[in-house]
Amino acid sequence: MRYLITGGAGFIGSHLAESLLEGGDHVSVIDDLSTGSMRNIEHLKDRRGFRYSIDSIFNKPLLSELVDDSDCVIHLAAAVGVKLIVESPVRTITLNVEGTSLVLDAAVKKRKKVLLASTSEVYGKSESFPFRESGDLVIGPSNKGRWSYACSKLLDEFLAIAYHKEKGLPVVIVRLFNTVGPRQTGQYGMVIPNFIKQALHGQPITVYGSGHQTRCFVHVRDVVGALVALSREPKAVGQVFNLGSGQEISILELARLVKRIAKSQSSIRRIPYNEAYEEGFEDMPRRVPDVSKARKLVGFKATVRLADIIADIIEHQRRCDGL
Ligand code: UDP
Repeated sequence: MRYLITGGAGFIGSHLAESLLEGGDHVSVIDDLSTGSMRNIEHLKDRRGFRYSIDSIFNKPLLSELVDDSDCVIHLAAAVGVKLIVESPVRTITLNVEGTSLVLDAAVKKRKKVLLASTSEVYGKSESFPFRESGDLVIGPSNKGRWSYACSKLLDEFLAIAYHKEKGLPVVIVRLFNTVGPRQTGQYGMVIPNFIKQALHGQPITVYGSGHQTRCFVHVRDVVGALVALSREPKAVGQVFNLGSGQEISILELARLVKRIAKSQSSIRRIPYNEAYEEGFEDMPRRVPDVSKARKLVGFKATVRLADIIADIIEHQRRCDGL
């Protein structure tokens, strides 16, 4: 198949491109390198069937041409990282909502399938654990930057479903839960790359809030496998799927685990949320996915244990930092 990956030079996009190329598919990437990096796709440049455009999805003629040349669009281009989102809410909303609208509009002309990457953030403050795709979404007030991200991605979902129902566009929506792995940069505040960098450089490991908040981390390799399978499964069209792991860990335990696996002497330092993000920042105390829907349809399973995920990222980071 011919795939177009928007945001294909990013962390998830570059792993996806690699996996598709290995399976013999053709891959075209569009990325403006705002948060992606050429380094992520450097090794793919000479592969057969790979093309890339360093440009924005807001370049409408180019986007149309790339969509026309593909069979399926995997739309990953979006604002990433809670820190960046809180700092740049205008960019976040514009990029997410207008960007997705442009992609859907380009796809509908030739009825190209679109797989939209959404996020577990849309569950917001829901307390119905584990989160099911059919569950209610509980969003906080509009004066808190974080919720603008959740709402912008939720609007993307509504828009994709509207295009499907009203215009017959084949769409698949996935909600990604804390996806991690090599190449994810700590630059945008994500916890695992941050902790690993700090541990490897002997800096204090910064735990925000009490550290009792929990997350479930999934290896990008498992997510990529599911993205490919869902993009090929006709029964996935018009549906929303959670993708994540059921292995829950508190952030404080995570800090201790990273420290142990990295054999680091770093201290663990607690930092209040208002210092880490902004005054009145609201964090999710818990986030656990129910992935039975994706498991039943495409056999999705998070296969990599957290300790192995951390070891994999540490090895990658050591290589990058020449340690
Ligand atoms: N976090 C932390 N230290 C860091 C970065 C993040 O304690 O250096 C916390 C953050 O407050 C959240 C969790 O780790 O409770 C996961 O953060 P991340 O930004 O990776 O993903 P989120 O689940 O918030 O989207």
